[in-house]
Amino acid sequence: MTGSHDADDAVDCAEALSKLFEFLDAEIGEAEGDRIRLHLADCEPCLSEYDVSEHLKKLVRRSCNDSAPAELHERIRAQLTVLRTQVERD
Ligand SMILES: [Zn+2]
Repeated sequence: MTGSHDADDAVDCAEALSKLFEFLDAEIGEAEGDRIRLHLADCEPCLSEYDVSEHLKKLVRRSCNDSAPAELHERIRAQLTVLRTQVERD
């Protein structure tokens, strides 16, 4: 059993966004991934960024099976930076 009422476990937008890439790359632990997923499910600005990120990652996977070229990664990161700035402005 896990008591999930603890506010210390909550992820805020900044943390969720900063870990979005690691989350999508499955580079973070399961527990932390769950916390981020929980936040995303409940937070519209983050969720929309998550959708975009996942969409981009699918495009990357489709265009090259194994690893994305660094240039494409850069482009995605730049795109996310723009989105992040928009979220912060709202
Ligand atoms: Zn959020």
